Amino acid sequence: MPIYSNNPLELPLFQFSKLLHYPEIAHAVATRRGPGQPLFQEAQPTLPDDYRTAGKGIYNKREVIYRRRSEFLAALGLDYERVQPNLTSPLQRHTNRVAVVGEEAYGTHLNWDKPLDNYDAVVTNLPGLPLMTLHADCTPVLLYDPLKKVIGAVHSGWRGTVGKISLEAVRVMQQHYGSAPEDIVAGIGPSIGPCCYQVGEPVLSAVAAAFGPEVAKPLLPLQADSSYHFDLWQTIFLTLREAGLKPQNIEQSTTCTRCNLTHFFSYRATPVEERDNYGQFVSLICLR
Ligand SMILES: [Zn+2]
Repeated sequence: MPIYSNNPLELPLFQFSKLLHYPEIAHAVATRRGPGQPLFQEAQPTLPDDYRTAGKGIYNKREVIYRRRSEFLAALGLDYERVQPNLTSPLQRHTNRVAVVGEEAYGTHLNWDKPLDNYDAVVTNLPGLPLMTLHADCTPVLLYDPLKKVIGAVHSGWRGTVGKISLEAVRVMQQHYGSAPEDIVAGIGPSIGPCCYQVGEPVLSAVAAAFGPEVAKPLLPLQADSSYHFDLWQTIFLTLREAGLKPQNIEQSTTCTRCNLTHFFSYRATPVEERDNYGQFVSLICLR
């Protein structure tokens, strides 16, 4: 698993090797461990010292979250004072809507106290403006066009995935910034995998309707117990291919959050009685 701690704070970070090729951007997905902490060796579903960078409940104290996010930015070599006021998040309402963050909005209503309502993806070409999404099973997707210097961050749960939100983000990059899809590099990050993501009727019907029954079939693998699972990763890969990305420009983490509680948070792995207090991790990309 590509988790690196070779940053000034020794903060364990998940990073895509295809995006690490570009020094002009910073990117990472946070883990459950803080600066200098070794990775867990065995599963620890809930721990008071979990390094939550987002989430609900008692550990989601504002000062704690702010400090951790500033550490996260610092670990990526970003100047906290410069970029923090510009940090932009969508509110994540399981839409397929993509917000363009332009000059007119720069540094005004855009910070982590005020996420952009009714969006699940954000794109920009402004340097020093980090795009961030929050996760605990839904898939983070990061996009970068190294020619036009445009970035994107996507939150893709089942609804967004069925709504082809990653394709929508690529379309917005094309229309707004003139990006060519074949230039865009994408990372599909840690989220609940086809190993663990059991789904019911609403999802089965929606996937079949969105992709057609033949394409949908392998995306919904039938299990030995007659239930169906949903393969978010392959579905997102297909939508990025449909958008025009080259397969060699798409990196899949194939890291299941539920199988890897040692490193990530999983909503579904959180006991029902503790779900008011489930942890989340952030995914971020920024033009330096
Ligand atoms: Zn799994």
